Amino acid sequence: MIKVTIWNEFLHEKQHEEVKAVYPDGIHAALAAGLATEDFEIATATLEEPEHGLSEERLNNTDVLIWWGHMGHEKVEDAIVDRVQQRVLNGMGLIVLHSGHFSKIFKKLMGTGCDLKWREANEKERIWVVNPAHPIASGLPEYINLEREEMYGEHFDIPAPDELIFVSWFEGGEVFRSGCTFSRGQGKIFYFRPGHETFPTYYNPQILQVISNGIRWAEPSRAATPVRGNHQPLEPIAAKS
Ligand code: ZN
Repeated sequence: MIKVTIWNEFLHEKQHEEVKAVYPDGIHAALAAGLATEDFEIATATLEEPEHGLSEERLNNTDVLIWWGHMGHEKVEDAIVDRVQQRVLNGMGLIVLHSGHFSKIFKKLMGTGCDLKWREANEKERIWVVNPAHPIASGLPEYINLEREEMYGEHFDIPAPDELIFVSWFEGGEVFRSGCTFSRGQGKIFYFRPGHETFPTYYNPQILQVISNGIRWAEPSRAATPVRGNHQPLEPIAAKS
C-alpha cells in the first residue's frame, strides 16, 4: 500500500459558489474519490485543520503528499512548510498541482521565483506527452485535450527540471512545461499543471491517470539514509612514514 495524503487549502470551495458547484466537497474529496484504488491508502488534510492537518504523525505516515493551494498560500505556517520540506528531503514524494506553483513549499524546494504567465479565458489546452518512456506517461495517448482550462504560459521560473514529461499548448498561442520532475535530498517531486478550481479537470480520467502514475513514481525509494559527517575508515589505512 502507498500511503497518500491529499492536501487542499479548501477555501475557494467554501467561499465561491462557482467553485462549490464543481467541487461541492472540495478538490481533495474529488481527488480522493478519483484516485481510489486497492493499492493506495488515501487520507486528506486541509488548511483550517490544526497544524493544517499535517502533524508530525500524519507526515510520518505519508509516502506521497499531493498539494493544491491558491488563495491561502500565505496562511500556511512556516513551521509546517519546514516540516514538509524535511520529510521530502528524507524521502517523502511530493506532487504539486496547478496554482501550487506559488506555494511556500514549492518555492522553497525550487529556490526560484516560480512565477509564470496566466489568463482565465475558458480556452482549450492540449497537453502533449514529450517523454513517452517515462512511467508518469504510462497508459496515456499522445496528448490529452481539456476543452476549458486556465492558461499558464512560459516563462515558468523554475530550475531546469530533471525530466520534462508534458508540454501544454493553449488556444491563445502560449506553451508551458506542464509536467516536470525534480529530486531534492531523497525525495521525488512532480509538478503537474492542470486543475483550475472553476473547471472539472480533476474528474477527467486521463488527468487522474497522470496523478496516479505520479504517486507510483514518487513513492519513496526506501534506500538507506545516507551517512554524512566525519567518518571512520571502512578498511585499515596503512601507516605512512
Ligand atoms: Zn488557477
